[in-house]
Order: sequence, then C-alpha cells, then structure tokens
Amino acid sequence: MKINWHENPLKTSVVLDEIEKKIFAEKAKIRELKSAAQSAALHLRDKSEKLYDPDRARSYLQHALDENGLKERANDMLVELESGFHCGDCTCVATSCEKCFAEDILEINTLEGLSQHSAHKLDVLYGREDAVGIEEVLGALEVEIAEALGDAREEEHAEAVKVYEWLLRYKTEKLGFRIRPLFS
Ligand SMILES: [Zn+2]
Repeated sequence: MKINWHENPLKTSVVLDEIEKKIFAEKAKIRELKSAAQSAALHLRDKSEKLYDPDRARSYLQHALDENGLKERANDMLVELESGFHCGDCTCVATSCEKCFAEDILEINTLEGLSQHSAHKLDVLYGREDAVGIEEVLGALEVEIAEALGDAREEEHAEAVKVYEWLLRYKTEKLGFRIRPLFS
C-alpha cells in the first residue's frame, strides 16, 4: 500500500498492488454481508415491532448475494481511493464518504484529527481544481484569521486557527516541508 499525500488533503490517494486489491475486495464484501445481515435481522426481530418487514429483510439479503454488485462496489471504492475526493459526512455533506469507507477497511485515516467543519472549510478553499496549492490555502487562512480577529468574530477566528494549525502540521508531517511561523 502506497499513500501519496496530496497538497490538498482531501485528495490524498492510496494505491494498492494487485494482491492488496484482492484482499481489499474480500474485506469489502465481508462488510457488505455483515451489514446486510444486520439490516435483515433488524426487520425480522419481533413481529410486534414497527420495523418488522420480511420483504425488506429479504431485499437486503438478496442485495448481499449479488456477487457482481459487490465486485462493482469494491472497484468503485478502489477508484475513489486512488483518485477521488473526500466528500460526505467527513466534509459536512449529508451522505456517506466512499473514500472514508474504503480507508476504514484498510484501517487507515488520512484525515486524522480533522473535524468535519474543518474539512468542509478546506473543501471550499481548495475547490475542485488542482491549481490551488497548500501555500495558497495557508495564506488565505492567515488573512481570514487576521480579519476575524480584527472584527472580534471569535468563533470564526477559532475555527480558522484550528484548520490552519492542522494544515500546517499536515504540511510538515506528510509533505515534509519546514514549519513556517504564523503570519510570516
Ligand atoms: Zn471522507
């Protein structure tokens, strides 16, 4: 497994070799089966419960037995790992993030310590183009921190400082640059 830390942390890519990809697909399959079994069990638990719905339980199980569907899902996740953006719960978007899901299967977390709000902020600052580099985003955050401080917008200031510190640490630890002082 090779992690290519990107200037945009939301775009860091994880590349697996052929054997690792096979293991990943098997692990992803086990997760899907387990989750389908849990959902089915929930809808079969007790006849008196509102959730009792054998048809629904059956559809979960049917879905889990769709071998091609499971393979496709694992392949989609591999594509996300290699070239996708983090987008979902991790960036305050109301959907699950495939990249996080895949990283979880690999037992890694390339966004460790970054809150959802901070990740959302990075998403906005970087945008979806490759043209925005880490220095540019750090610079934009410095301006924001100074402005929010001047206007006494405490919450905004604290959030911007948090993202700034995280990104600065990311830059040093993952990208290997020397730390520069705040407001240099
Ligand atoms: Zn994510």
